[in-house]
Amino acid sequence: MTMLCTVSACKKSKKYDVKKYADSSSSQEESGLSSEGTLSENEGGSASAPTGSSASQSTATGSKTSSTVGSKPNGSTDTSSDEGQEYKLPDYDLDTDYTNDFVQDGRYIKIKTFATAGEYEGYVNRLVKDGYKKYDENKIGKNLFVSLVNKKNFISVSYTAGNSKLKIISEPLGDLYPRKADNKYTSKGMQSLFTGMKNENKPIYSGMGFVIRLDDGSFIIIDGGGGDRNHKDSNRLLNILNEQKPKNSGKPVIAAWIFTHCHDDHIGVFNAFSADFHDKVVIEKFYYNFPPDLDILASAEFMFNDDYYSYNNFKDCIKNYYSKSAVIRPHSGERYYIRNAVIEMLFSYEDLFPASIADRGINDFNETSLIFKVNIGGQSLMITGDASAMGMNFASTNYGTYLKSDILQMAHHGQNGTVPFYSKVDPTYALIPISHVDKNRVNFNEANKWLVNSKNVRQFIAFWSDNVTIPLPYNPTNAEIKDRIPTEKTVYNAVNLQ
Ligand SMILES: [Zn+2]
Repeated sequence: MTMLCTVSACKKSKKYDVKKYADSSSSQEESGLSSEGTLSENEGGSASAPTGSSASQSTATGSKTSSTVGSKPNGSTDTSSDEGQEYKLPDYDLDTDYTNDFVQDGRYIKIKTFATAGEYEGYVNRLVKDGYKKYDENKIGKNLFVSLVNKKNFISVSYTAGNSKLKIISEPLGDLYPRKADNKYTSKGMQSLFTGMKNENKPIYSGMGFVIRLDDGSFIIIDGGGGDRNHKDSNRLLNILNEQKPKNSGKPVIAAWIFTHCHDDHIGVFNAFSADFHDKVVIEKFYYNFPPDLDILASAEFMFNDDYYSYNNFKDCIKNYYSKSAVIRPHSGERYYIRNAVIEMLFSYEDLFPASIADRGINDFNETSLIFKVNIGGQSLMITGDASAMGMNFASTNYGTYLKSDILQMAHHGQNGTVPFYSKVDPTYALIPISHVDKNRVNFNEANKWLVNSKNVRQFIAFWSDNVTIPLPYNPTNAEIKDRIPTEKTVYNAVNLQ
């Protein structure tokens, strides 16, 4: 029996039937349900383990739990504890012909297709009636999102109107994301900054690393870049933090380090940085939502050897160096209030459920990339990581013109992107996160052509020659924009770092 078995399915999945039990005993171990229909305390190894910590996010939760699997809060059906009994979140009044249940990574997931807003409301109300408290709610157009908690579980429920899907994910309660009321801090009135890191140590392909300085001098880091076997970019990153932190302050404070996905060209610098400088910074919270090991191991054609090495190294770094840092597993619809920034999560790979990489419903590992909007200084940045067509279609179908943003990070280093998504984002500035050695790989696909032809795009910004720092909000004069489309010689205006 493999300990990497992280996906198992409900036998009742009538509509899709995407995953079957390969090994009923391992599935039984994953189904740590107590008699109240909630996750038992040792699910995930520890009741206090952070939601989505490296251990609980991406490895099997092998701890043996209660045998009273299957009894449910509202007791609509199955109560047996037979070997191989599957776990379901309560159906309540959902039509099970269109409902798919499965277990992944010690989490319990229900997907209802052909769903309505009324079914969402009904389901959420039943959870509340059964003792769950609403932690946070959001509404984007006709899309509805809520996070609920009880003493043991965190449940994310979403209804997305464009694809008529209801998604319910239950996971062990861990670290919770910061809401508006949790965002207590003292502004130092510092200029907010965005820095795109030059990423030079991966001569084969590209890297992406962004640093956002907040108004109290703390930071949000997005990815960091790749490779870095000679640790040049880890030094580059520490230098950026030390240059931009408040003068005469202590260690740089990283309020949030967000990883779009677990490819080496996005997490490699973090690994080197952790080995070199983990004691030179304070990291408050990590945010990432990687697929389970089963999907990652099924992704050989998308995961090069470097990626496997980096992914395993990443897990070790989180565990070994940052035991005091919180780990948040993002879901769509969540908003994180981090100093003067608000991050709104718009897509995680869970929005493609019940499709998975392991069953080939998702055919590109880059589809696991988060898509989110950063609102800061009265402007917004759309971060796409390496998002591919499925994620972008989900976002453009469900959010429409809500995607409108001032600054767009071109997807997959300028190699992906769709016209529906880019035209809804309709940016004024576009970031090209590709290393100088790889810049010729920015192809002029239809989406990029759309950007180049858009009269609203004033400037493309690349990080080929050096790091580029811009103030947020970014409102350069026409004279300050030297080249709309950059060359390697393009020089960007210097920004006052203090
Ligand atoms: Zn990449």
